[in-house]
This record gives sequence, structure tokens and C-alpha cells, in this order.
Amino acid sequence: MAEGNTIDRQTFLKGVISLSALAGAFSARELLAQEAEFMDTAARRAKADTITGRPYRVDDSVLSRFDESMVAINLAPRELGASNMELSMKHVLENYMTGRTSNIVDAGSRAAARSFMAAKFGLSTFSDLIGYYGTGRDNVGLLSYSPVSAPEMLCNMPPDLDDPAQLTTQAKTVAKLAGADLVGICKLDRRQVYSHSQRNPESAEPPVKKEIVFEKTEKPYETATRLVIPDSVENVIVMAVEQNRVMAQASPSMVTTCASSLGYSRMGIAVIMVAEYIRAMGYTAIPAMNGTGLSVPMAIDAGLGECGRNGLLITPEFGPNVRLCKVLTNMPLIPDEPIRFGVEQFCNECKKCARDCPSQAITHGAQSWSGYAHNNPGVYKWYNDHIKCIKFWHKSGTACMNCIAVCPFTKGEVIWGHDFIRWSIRNTPFLDKCMVALDDAFGYGRRREPSEMWERPVGTYGISADRFGEMAYKPKRRHT
Ligand code: SF4
Ligand code: SF4
Repeated sequence: MAEGNTIDRQTFLKGVISLSALAGAFSARELLAQEAEFMDTAARRAKADTITGRPYRVDDSVLSRFDESMVAINLAPRELGASNMELSMKHVLENYMTGRTSNIVDAGSRAAARSFMAAKFGLSTFSDLIGYYGTGRDNVGLLSYSPVSAPEMLCNMPPDLDDPAQLTTQAKTVAKLAGADLVGICKLDRRQVYSHSQRNPESAEPPVKKEIVFEKTEKPYETATRLVIPDSVENVIVMAVEQNRVMAQASPSMVTTCASSLGYSRMGIAVIMVAEYIRAMGYTAIPAMNGTGLSVPMAIDAGLGECGRNGLLITPEFGPNVRLCKVLTNMPLIPDEPIRFGVEQFCNECKKCARDCPSQAITHGAQSWSGYAHNNPGVYKWYNDHIKCIKFWHKSGTACMNCIAVCPFTKGEVIWGHDFIRWSIRNTPFLDKCMVALDDAFGYGRRREPSEMWERPVGTYGISADRFGEMAYKPKRRHT
């Protein structure tokens, strides 16, 4: 529902509180305490506008299905002459031996560096069992097109329930139970499905590919050259899992990699569980993590958020601090409406991700219709040089999340959750630069000391109601 463009007295007063705080009348801690009332993520989503149609512009004469072998994670190894694993492992070991937790962040000791590294391997276990974050794993292992544990006999029985409203409620409930922090549904736009799956992902060798095709068939199947999806598969259940914000803000370090590894493991659990539920209900399910298709546009279409300058999905609840996964299905479902809450307009002024990107992969420029060879053209957005990003990851020996850590939308319930700020972003774009300065002034996008990972209270899956003890913990200043 569109939010009105009026500002009430209470909202105005809250705005005054924010600006007074900037002037020094309130300490950041006092401001944080005032913001406690804005910790309800559902309330933040409720403030967004829902819209009919897409919240981004498409050139239908250009947009077409993209080849997975051309995505940066697959293209970079061919350009650099070695697999991603070979290119990064040398630096991972160097960091450990010298007591660092990335090329630029000190761990304090070799033992500390090892602890972070060991946690990473523990938290990535489920993702590693699937492999390559799901890239090129269509119909492989746990991402099978067939049931992995539900009885075939049950899955082959015709559905007993075909009411879209009931099925939508059930599917979303199962998704949440399977670990999704956000879930939305969209109609499948086949242009968002890869034209080909690269079966030897992240390799320097020539790509081994299978074409992904849609066909009038009852069940999905695979041949020597093709992955076949039934024409009836017209819906996508898109899920987002939140990452631990403190760990993301320790970027770039092995702690950041722990956060993303856990996110990938949770993604795997979620898509496999949801796919099995769908099959047991008598429908077709194609589970996908990073593979099969482009997650960000699917998530936008499913109403989970908007696309930011950093190329990531920005959600009202968690900003860009999420991992995305999806299940394609022929289960009859009711799609969600896309939302808009001022991201595009704010990104025009903000540019913090571009400023703090260590590889300068993120453009400082305007949106456009095309970018690099590893970008799919035909959408009006910010195109970024992800090869530069991946090269930095190799050199760092860890994942980087600077573009998530510094994003004003990442901090969630603090200033960003403020009614006045939201109102201002919608209605006074000329103040957006002030909002960025305010964000910087309070240090909300600051980078974290890696040891905070062990010192803070932590909830299940790194997610806690009080956002990692933000209210009670005094952060350390990082020196590197
Ligand atoms: S992950 Fe790091 S290097 Fe890559 S785009 Fe984001 S900030 Fe830049
Ligand atoms: S850091 Fe700023 S410019 Fe970048 S995605 Fe976030 S809001 Fe947009």
C-alpha cells in the first residue's frame, strides 16, 4: 500500500531528535536507546510501497538469457589462468602462517588466525557438500531434480491440494521453518534463467556446458547435453537468509567468510527442504542456490527488496546483508508485489559502497543499460566490474563484504529504521547527502574487530533479537 507523503508530528519530532543528536545534544548511545522501538523488522517492511509491475526498467529488445559460464565467478579463472581455489589458497595459507585473517587484517596471532579459519570450514560444511555455492550444480547431488528423501511413490501421486491461497501459505511457512528469514513469490521470467549451466564451475579450463531448456514434459530431466525444465514451471519461491551483521562488518577477513559460509549452508538447507515439501505435495521443484538463474532480479520481482548501486538486493529488514536462493516450481502460488522504499534515489547520492570498495569494482557513475562481458545487459541499473572484485578476494584470501558492511541500509533498526529518515529519503532527496554524512558521523558502517565474533553474545545462526548485543556491547576500534 502506498505510504502517504505527509509527515505527522511524532515523526517530525523523531526527526528533530536525530538532527539534534548530530549536533551533539545526544550521544550515539542515547540515540541507540531511543531507537529500540524501531527494532521490529516487519514494521520496516510495512512502510515500503508496493507497486504494480517491475521496479526497474528493462529493454525487451536486449534482455535475454545469460550463459552461466560468463558470470564473473566462472569467467575470472579463465582470464587469470587458474581456478579460484588455486588463486586464493596460497593467500589463505600465507595469512594463517603470519597470524593474519586477510591480507590487510591482523588476527593477533597464528592461533587466532587458525580459529577463524577453522570456524569457516565448520560453517561452510553443508554448502561444501553441495559444492560451488550451487553454481553449475543443477540436478547434482542434493540439488537433484528428483526427491532426495521423500518417498517416490508419494511424490508421484497427483496433488490433493490445488488452492493457490492455501498452497502459498503453506509454502511460505515451510520456507520460514527451513530457515528463510524472508520469503517471496514471483512469476518466473525465463530470461532470468541461465541459458547454460557450467558443469565445471570456477575452473580455468574451457567451460563444460549443458543447455537449460523448457519443454512440454511432466518431470524435469537431464540428458548428455541438456537440463530440461517442464513448461509448467511458472513460479519461483525466493528466500533470503540474513547474515550476522557484526561478522559481515569485520570485512575483509576470514570472519566475513564465516558469515557468508554460514549463509550458503543455510541456503542449501532451505532450498532442499522446500523442494522436498513441494515434491511430496505432488508438484515439481527445481532447487537452486547461486545456480540455475539470477537471484537478484527474481528476489526483486518477488517483493523482497530493490537493487542497489552495489548490485545487491537491498531489503527493508537487513539491507544487502542477505544471501539469496530459490526454488522454481509448478505449484500454483500467488505472487507477491514488488516494493519500493527509496533505494535507487538514495544510491544516487550515497556511493559509500563505491568509496569503500577495496578493488574499486563498484561504479561511482550513473545507471546504464550495459556493462562488462560478465554482466547481462538490457536492464537499467548500476553495472560493476565483478572481475576486479574476485581478484581482490583471491589476493585477500577471504571473502570481502565492504559493500555490505558500509551500506546505510545494513544497519537495520538504528537510524535507518527511523520514520523521519525514511520520510526524508522519499520526500527530500536533496537531503540524502546529509543522511549519508549522518550515517558516517555515527559510525554505523564502521568495520569491526574480528575478535568480536567470539566476544559478543550470539543467537542461533548468528541472528539474535537484539542484533548481536548492539545495545550492550562497546565495539573496539580496528587498527588495520
Ligand atoms: S565484495 Fe568487496 S571488492 Fe567486491 S564489490 Fe564488494 S566491496 Fe568491492
Ligand atoms: S552503500 Fe549507499 S550507494 Fe551503496 S548500495 Fe548502499 S545505499 Fe546504495
